[in-house]
Amino acid sequence: MTLTLSAEVVTLTTRHPFIIARGGNSDYRVVTVRLTDADGLEGWGEASPSAYYGETAETVLAVLKTLEPHLPADPFDLDAAEARFARVVPKNGAARAALSGALHDLVGKRLGVPLYRLWGLDRRRTPVSSFTIGIDSAEKTQAKVREARDYAILKIKLGTDRDEEILRTIRDVTDQPLRVDANAGWTRERALRMLPLLKEFGVEFVEQPLPPDDLEGIAAVRRAGILPVVVDESCVVAADIPRVAEAADGINIKLAKCGSLREALRMIATARAHKMLVMVGCMIETSIGITAAAHFTPLVDAADLDGAALTVNDPFAGAVIGGGPIELPDGPGLGVRRR
Ligand code: MG
Repeated sequence: MTLTLSAEVVTLTTRHPFIIARGGNSDYRVVTVRLTDADGLEGWGEASPSAYYGETAETVLAVLKTLEPHLPADPFDLDAAEARFARVVPKNGAARAALSGALHDLVGKRLGVPLYRLWGLDRRRTPVSSFTIGIDSAEKTQAKVREARDYAILKIKLGTDRDEEILRTIRDVTDQPLRVDANAGWTRERALRMLPLLKEFGVEFVEQPLPPDDLEGIAAVRRAGILPVVVDESCVVAADIPRVAEAADGINIKLAKCGSLREALRMIATARAHKMLVMVGCMIETSIGITAAAHFTPLVDAADLDGAALTVNDPFAGAVIGGGPIELPDGPGLGVRRR
Protein backbone atom coordinates (compact mmCIF):
# COMPACT_ATOMS: atom_id res chain seq x y z
CA MET A 1 0.00 0.00 0.00
CA THR A 2 1.53 3.32 -1.00
CA LEU A 3 0.98 6.80 0.28
CA THR A 4 0.32 9.73 -2.06
CA LEU A 5 1.95 13.01 -1.14
CA SER A 6 0.55 16.42 -1.99
CA ALA A 7 1.70 19.82 -0.78
CA GLU A 8 0.29 23.34 -0.90
CA VAL A 9 1.85 26.71 -0.07
CA VAL A 10 -0.34 28.83 2.21
CA THR A 11 0.43 32.49 2.87
CA LEU A 12 -0.47 33.42 6.42
CA THR A 13 -0.96 37.06 7.32
CA THR A 14 -0.37 38.23 10.86
CA ARG A 15 -2.79 40.67 12.49
CA HIS A 16 0.17 43.02 13.09
CA PRO A 17 3.61 42.93 11.48
CA PHE A 18 5.41 40.26 13.52
CA ILE A 19 8.85 41.65 14.34
CA ILE A 20 11.57 40.10 16.49
CA ALA A 21 15.19 41.15 17.20
CA ARG A 22 16.39 39.98 13.76
CA GLY A 23 13.45 41.44 11.79
CA GLY A 24 10.12 40.16 10.48
CA ASN A 25 7.04 41.02 8.43
CA SER A 26 3.32 40.37 7.99
CA ASP A 27 3.27 37.54 5.44
CA TYR A 28 4.58 34.08 6.23
CA ARG A 29 4.54 31.25 3.68
CA VAL A 30 4.03 27.78 5.10
CA VAL A 31 3.50 24.45 3.35
CA THR A 32 0.64 22.12 4.24
CA VAL A 33 1.10 18.48 3.36
CA ARG A 34 -1.36 15.65 2.74
CA LEU A 35 -0.54 11.94 2.73
CA THR A 36 -3.38 9.89 1.30
CA ASP A 37 -3.53 6.12 1.76
CA ALA A 38 -5.21 3.53 -0.50
CA ASP A 39 -8.44 3.79 1.54
CA GLY A 40 -8.57 7.53 0.97
CA LEU A 41 -7.66 8.42 4.55
CA GLU A 42 -5.64 11.63 4.76
CA GLY A 43 -2.84 12.53 7.14
CA TRP A 44 -2.18 16.26 7.43
CA GLY A 45 1.09 17.93 8.32
CA GLU A 46 2.69 21.35 8.08
CA ALA A 47 6.10 22.85 7.45
CA SER A 48 6.59 26.36 8.84
CA PRO A 49 10.01 27.20 7.39
CA SER A 50 12.30 29.76 8.96
CA ALA A 51 15.00 31.51 6.90
CA TYR A 52 17.09 31.60 10.09
CA TYR A 53 17.36 27.81 9.86
CA GLY A 54 17.91 27.92 6.10
CA GLU A 55 14.39 27.00 4.96
CA THR A 56 11.77 28.67 2.78
CA ALA A 57 8.52 27.39 1.25
CA GLU A 58 10.58 26.63 -1.89
CA THR A 59 13.19 24.53 -0.07
CA VAL A 60 10.37 22.69 1.70
CA LEU A 61 8.72 21.81 -1.63
CA ALA A 62 12.08 20.64 -3.01
CA VAL A 63 12.83 18.54 0.09
CA LEU A 64 9.36 16.96 0.00
CA LYS A 65 10.12 15.81 -3.56
CA THR A 66 13.44 14.39 -2.36
CA LEU A 67 11.78 12.56 0.53
CA GLU A 68 8.78 11.25 -1.41
CA PRO A 69 10.56 8.01 -2.48
CA HIS A 70 11.47 7.46 1.19
CA LEU A 71 7.88 7.51 2.48
CA PRO A 72 7.04 4.32 4.36
CA ALA A 73 4.71 1.78 2.76
CA ASP A 74 3.12 1.45 6.22
CA PRO A 75 2.50 4.72 8.11
CA PHE A 76 2.92 2.86 11.42
CA ASP A 77 6.58 2.46 10.49
CA LEU A 78 7.22 5.87 12.08
CA ASP A 79 10.61 5.34 13.67
CA ALA A 80 12.35 3.96 10.59
CA ALA A 81 10.65 6.52 8.31
CA GLU A 82 11.73 9.50 10.42
CA ALA A 83 15.28 8.14 10.73
CA ARG A 84 15.42 7.77 6.95
CA PHE A 85 14.17 11.33 6.37
CA ALA A 86 16.83 12.67 8.76
CA ARG A 87 19.55 10.69 7.01
CA VAL A 88 18.53 11.96 3.57
CA VAL A 89 18.09 15.61 4.66
CA PRO A 90 19.82 16.15 8.02
CA LYS A 91 18.80 19.84 8.15
CA ASN A 92 15.39 20.97 6.81
CA GLY A 93 13.58 20.32 10.09
CA ALA A 94 10.40 22.10 9.00
CA ALA A 95 10.03 19.96 5.85
CA ARG A 96 10.61 16.74 7.78
CA ALA A 97 8.21 17.84 10.55
CA ALA A 98 5.43 18.14 7.95
CA LEU A 99 5.82 14.46 6.98
CA SER A 100 6.13 13.44 10.64
CA GLY A 101 2.89 15.27 11.49
CA ALA A 102 1.08 13.78 8.49
CA LEU A 103 2.18 10.21 9.33
CA HIS A 104 1.12 10.61 12.97
CA ASP A 105 -2.21 12.08 11.87
CA LEU A 106 -2.76 9.12 9.53
CA VAL A 107 -1.84 6.56 12.21
CA GLY A 108 -4.29 8.19 14.65
CA LYS A 109 -7.02 8.22 12.02
CA ARG A 110 -6.43 4.57 11.14
CA LEU A 111 -6.82 3.67 14.82
CA GLY A 112 -9.58 6.19 15.47
CA VAL A 113 -7.77 7.80 18.42
CA PRO A 114 -6.40 11.29 19.06
CA LEU A 115 -2.61 11.54 19.10
CA TYR A 116 -2.42 12.44 22.80
CA ARG A 117 -4.34 9.21 23.58
CA LEU A 118 -1.97 7.21 21.42
CA TRP A 119 0.86 8.59 23.57
CA GLY A 120 -1.06 7.87 26.79
CA LEU A 121 -1.24 11.54 27.81
CA ASP A 122 -3.83 13.30 29.95
CA ARG A 123 -5.48 16.16 28.05
CA ARG A 124 -6.34 17.85 31.37
CA ARG A 125 -2.64 18.43 32.02
CA THR A 126 -1.98 20.92 29.22
CA PRO A 127 -0.39 24.25 30.22
CA VAL A 128 -1.67 27.73 29.40
CA SER A 129 -0.04 29.09 26.25
CA SER A 130 1.59 32.49 26.25
CA PHE A 131 0.74 35.01 23.54
CA THR A 132 3.59 36.89 21.88
CA ILE A 133 3.87 40.65 21.63
CA GLY A 134 6.28 41.42 18.78
CA ILE A 135 8.48 44.51 18.64
CA ASP A 136 6.53 47.69 17.81
CA SER A 137 5.98 51.35 18.71
CA ALA A 138 4.72 52.19 22.22
CA GLU A 139 1.13 52.90 21.07
CA LYS A 140 0.91 49.76 18.93
CA THR A 141 2.45 47.67 21.71
CA GLN A 142 -0.19 48.85 24.15
CA ALA A 143 -2.95 48.20 21.63
CA LYS A 144 -1.66 44.66 21.08
CA VAL A 145 -1.49 44.01 24.82
CA ARG A 146 -5.12 45.12 25.16
CA GLU A 147 -6.14 42.81 22.30
CA ALA A 148 -4.35 39.94 24.05
CA ARG A 149 -6.35 40.14 27.27
CA ASP A 150 -7.77 36.62 26.75
CA TYR A 151 -4.27 35.20 27.12
CA ALA A 152 -3.15 34.74 30.72
CA ILE A 153 0.59 35.01 29.93
CA LEU A 154 2.37 37.35 27.54
CA LYS A 155 5.71 36.67 25.87
CA ILE A 156 7.50 39.90 25.07
CA LYS A 157 9.98 40.08 22.21
CA LEU A 158 13.01 42.17 23.19
CA GLY A 159 16.57 42.53 21.92
CA THR A 160 16.30 46.22 20.91
CA ASP A 161 18.01 49.34 22.26
CA ARG A 162 14.71 50.40 23.89
CA ASP A 163 13.81 47.26 25.80
CA GLU A 164 13.35 49.15 29.10
CA GLU A 165 10.77 51.40 27.44
CA ILE A 166 8.96 48.42 25.88
CA LEU A 167 8.65 46.72 29.27
CA ARG A 168 7.41 49.89 30.98
CA THR A 169 4.93 50.50 28.19
CA ILE A 170 3.53 47.00 28.68
CA ARG A 171 3.47 47.14 32.47
CA ASP A 172 1.51 50.41 32.23
CA VAL A 173 -1.43 48.51 30.73
CA THR A 174 -1.31 44.98 32.18
CA ASP A 175 -0.54 42.93 35.29
CA GLN A 176 -0.36 39.67 33.30
CA PRO A 177 2.65 37.42 33.93
CA LEU A 178 5.37 38.13 31.38
CA ARG A 179 8.07 36.07 29.72
CA VAL A 180 10.80 37.63 27.65
CA ASP A 181 12.54 36.45 24.48
CA ALA A 182 15.60 38.42 23.34
CA ASN A 183 16.13 36.14 20.28
CA ALA A 184 19.91 36.33 20.74
CA GLY A 185 19.76 40.14 20.58
CA TRP A 186 21.76 41.04 23.70
CA THR A 187 25.43 41.15 24.61
CA ARG A 188 26.52 39.63 27.92
CA GLU A 189 26.77 43.10 29.49
CA ARG A 190 23.35 44.12 28.22
CA ALA A 191 21.78 40.87 29.43
CA LEU A 192 23.27 41.20 32.91
CA ARG A 193 22.09 44.82 33.06
CA MET A 194 18.56 43.84 31.97
CA LEU A 195 18.10 41.02 34.49
CA PRO A 196 17.24 43.11 37.60
CA LEU A 197 14.78 45.15 35.56
CA LEU A 198 13.11 42.00 34.16
CA LYS A 199 12.80 40.70 37.71
CA GLU A 200 11.32 44.01 38.88
CA PHE A 201 8.73 43.81 36.07
CA GLY A 202 7.64 40.34 37.15
CA VAL A 203 9.17 38.44 34.24
CA GLU A 204 9.06 34.65 34.82
CA PHE A 205 11.97 33.60 32.64
CA VAL A 206 14.16 34.87 29.84
CA GLU A 207 14.60 33.07 26.54
CA GLN A 208 17.78 33.08 24.41
CA PRO A 209 19.45 36.21 25.83
CA LEU A 210 22.65 35.77 23.78
CA PRO A 211 23.78 34.36 20.43
CA PRO A 212 23.33 30.57 20.21
CA ASP A 213 27.04 29.70 20.33
CA ASP A 214 27.84 31.85 23.37
CA LEU A 215 27.03 29.14 25.88
CA GLU A 216 29.61 30.55 28.29
CA GLY A 217 27.82 33.88 28.23
CA ILE A 218 24.43 32.23 28.64
CA ALA A 219 25.84 30.31 31.61
CA ALA A 220 26.97 33.63 33.12
CA VAL A 221 23.44 35.03 32.74
CA ARG A 222 22.11 31.91 34.45
CA ARG A 223 24.71 32.13 37.25
CA ALA A 224 23.52 35.65 38.05
CA GLY A 225 20.69 33.71 39.66
CA ILE A 226 18.04 36.33 38.97
CA LEU A 227 15.82 34.56 36.43
CA PRO A 228 15.67 31.10 34.83
CA VAL A 229 17.21 31.02 31.35
CA VAL A 230 15.65 29.03 28.51
CA VAL A 231 17.52 28.35 25.25
CA ASP A 232 15.77 28.20 21.89
CA GLU A 233 18.20 28.97 19.04
CA SER A 234 20.98 27.15 21.00
CA CYS A 235 19.06 23.89 21.08
CA VAL A 236 17.68 22.28 17.93
CA VAL A 237 17.62 18.52 18.61
CA ALA A 238 17.97 16.16 21.58
CA ALA A 239 21.70 15.67 20.92
CA ASP A 240 22.22 19.41 21.70
CA ILE A 241 20.83 19.07 25.22
CA PRO A 242 23.87 17.65 27.10
CA ARG A 243 25.89 20.59 25.68
CA VAL A 244 23.40 23.29 26.78
CA ALA A 245 22.42 21.66 30.09
CA GLU A 246 25.20 23.44 32.02
CA ALA A 247 24.37 26.81 30.51
CA ALA A 248 20.60 26.98 30.77
CA ASP A 249 17.65 26.01 32.96
CA GLY A 250 15.39 24.98 30.12
CA ILE A 251 14.94 24.33 26.41
CA ASN A 252 12.37 25.49 23.88
CA ILE A 253 11.30 22.69 21.52
CA LYS A 254 9.95 23.52 18.08
CA LEU A 255 8.89 20.98 15.47
CA ALA A 256 10.31 23.22 12.73
CA LYS A 257 13.74 22.87 14.36
CA CYS A 258 13.78 19.25 15.54
CA GLY A 259 11.98 17.88 12.49
CA SER A 260 9.72 15.28 14.04
CA LEU A 261 7.21 14.48 16.75
CA ARG A 262 9.29 11.53 17.91
CA GLU A 263 12.37 13.75 18.18
CA ALA A 264 10.30 16.22 20.24
CA LEU A 265 9.47 13.38 22.67
CA ARG A 266 13.17 12.43 22.80
CA MET A 267 14.02 16.06 23.58
CA ILE A 268 11.55 16.05 26.47
CA ALA A 269 13.05 12.83 27.90
CA THR A 270 16.62 14.08 27.46
CA ALA A 271 15.87 17.45 29.04
CA ARG A 272 14.16 15.75 32.00
CA ALA A 273 17.22 13.52 32.45
CA HIS A 274 19.20 16.76 32.80
CA LYS A 275 16.60 18.20 35.20
CA MET A 276 15.74 20.96 32.76
CA LEU A 277 12.53 22.91 32.22
CA VAL A 278 10.75 22.07 28.98
CA MET A 279 8.97 24.62 26.86
CA VAL A 280 7.34 24.16 23.47
CA GLY A 281 7.25 26.98 20.94
CA CYS A 282 6.26 27.52 17.33
CA MET A 283 6.68 29.65 14.23
CA ILE A 284 3.90 31.56 12.48
CA GLU A 285 1.87 28.55 11.34
CA THR A 286 -1.63 27.20 10.83
CA SER A 287 -3.54 25.11 13.34
CA ILE A 288 -2.10 21.96 11.75
CA GLY A 289 1.43 22.64 13.02
CA ILE A 290 0.20 24.17 16.27
CA THR A 291 -2.04 21.19 17.03
CA ALA A 292 0.72 18.66 16.27
CA ALA A 293 2.86 20.35 18.94
CA ALA A 294 -0.09 20.83 21.31
CA HIS A 295 -0.61 17.05 21.58
CA PHE A 296 2.58 16.63 23.64
CA THR A 297 2.00 19.68 25.86
CA PRO A 298 0.75 17.53 28.78
CA LEU A 299 4.49 16.69 29.11
CA VAL A 300 5.87 20.26 29.16
CA ASP A 301 6.14 23.09 31.70
CA ALA A 302 5.48 26.03 29.41
CA ALA A 303 3.92 26.55 26.00
CA ASP A 304 4.09 29.34 23.47
CA LEU A 305 1.80 28.01 20.77
CA ASP A 306 0.31 31.26 19.51
CA GLY A 307 1.53 30.94 15.90
CA ALA A 308 -1.94 30.50 14.40
CA ALA A 309 -3.62 32.87 16.87
CA LEU A 310 -1.33 35.67 15.64
CA THR A 311 -2.72 35.31 12.10
CA VAL A 312 -5.98 36.48 10.53
CA ASN A 313 -6.38 33.69 7.96
CA ASP A 314 -5.71 30.31 9.56
CA PRO A 315 -7.55 27.87 7.22
CA PHE A 316 -7.75 25.20 9.95
CA ALA A 317 -9.13 24.66 13.43
CA GLY A 318 -7.55 22.37 16.00
CA ALA A 319 -6.12 22.94 19.47
CA VAL A 320 -7.70 25.93 21.20
CA ILE A 321 -5.14 28.40 22.55
CA GLY A 322 -6.23 31.21 24.86
CA GLY A 323 -8.94 31.58 27.45
CA GLY A 324 -7.34 28.93 29.71
CA PRO A 325 -5.19 25.83 29.38
CA ILE A 326 -4.66 24.55 25.82
CA GLU A 327 -7.67 22.49 24.70
CA LEU A 328 -6.75 19.43 22.63
CA PRO A 329 -9.24 18.38 19.97
CA ASP A 330 -10.84 14.98 20.41
CA GLY A 331 -10.94 13.87 16.78
CA PRO A 332 -8.66 11.04 15.61
CA GLY A 333 -5.04 11.81 14.76
CA LEU A 334 -4.26 15.50 15.09
CA GLY A 335 -8.01 16.22 15.19
CA VAL A 336 -7.60 19.19 12.86
CA ARG A 337 -10.40 20.19 10.51
CA ARG A 338 -10.83 22.78 7.80
CA ARG A 339 -12.46 26.00 9.04
MG1 MG B 1 12.37 31.98 21.03
